[in-house]
Amino acid sequence: MTATLIDGKAIAEKVKAEVALRAAAFLAKHGRKPGLEVILVGDDPASHVYVKNKEASAGKAGLHGAVHRMPADTTQAALLEKVRELNAADHVDGILVQLPVPKHIDPLAIVDALDPSKDVDGLTPESAGRLWVGRKGLRPCTPHGCMRLLDETGVKLDGARAIVIGRSNLVGKPIAAMLLERNATVVLAHSRTKDLADRVREADVVIAAVGKAELVRGDWIQEGAVVIDVGINRTPEGKLIGDVEFAAAKERARAITPVPGGVGPMTIAMLLSNTVDAAEARAEMR
Ligand code: NAD
Repeated sequence: MTATLIDGKAIAEKVKAEVALRAAAFLAKHGRKPGLEVILVGDDPASHVYVKNKEASAGKAGLHGAVHRMPADTTQAALLEKVRELNAADHVDGILVQLPVPKHIDPLAIVDALDPSKDVDGLTPESAGRLWVGRKGLRPCTPHGCMRLLDETGVKLDGARAIVIGRSNLVGKPIAAMLLERNATVVLAHSRTKDLADRVREADVVIAAVGKAELVRGDWIQEGAVVIDVGINRTPEGKLIGDVEFAAAKERARAITPVPGGVGPMTIAMLLSNTVDAAEARAEMR
């Protein structure tokens, strides 16, 4: 079997088109665009590129987007003040503090200061708690995007055996919760998991979110399984590769995401979608 490639770029475009329609409807109804504002502290070049992309994508989808660039020596108090200012600003529906922040700032203190109704990254304990207890709320963008990829691929999750490799708060844990919410039987594997290969061999759905190049070998993949590779790793030659041994895995899987072009493009699309969700929920609360 040769796997179907799950085209994250195309699916992300579809999500963005939906966002644009919803944003236009929101503007017509409320007289303003859904608003996403990003805070960027310091000069990390990669972060500057990500933030620029987010701002441009927001504008293209008909959202209000703005970036607050703050110098690397910004104090924690000044950053908290900026977060509070955006919490209080009515035209701001989504706030994103681009991580990592400089070392002298405690990222948890910043996340804790976010108004959960504007937490479009889904990082606050309130958002995480809502996910685990099955309440409506803002879901972290990358896992949310993975679920959309599975749905667009027509994967039946009810009763499926799923393995999530990686248990970070940003990716692994929330994906596990989302799969469970959809009635999959979920194994949440991590660096201490014994017999990882055997656990993967039992899975109908494999989600790899580790950050170790080709850790998941192609021959671990069950014939006909669906593979979502969240990992982004750079080879010594500068090529981007995933956590799954792609060439071998695609000969066994039914469907698989490429790296790049799979999960990656979904993250910004889901951020925009979350911003419209937040705008609608805030408008409804009033
Ligand atoms: P993380 O470093 O916070 O977590 C990695 C997890 O992998 C940990 O839970 C750890 O227990 C587990 N792990 C480490 N070694 C292992 C092993 N040998 N066997 C099994 N599990 C092991 O990373 P993260 O933030 O969750 O990101 C994971 C990967 O996903 C990274 O490559 C990151 O770049 C990528 N990522 C991609 C996107 C995207 O938009 N595509 C977004 C976020 C993260």
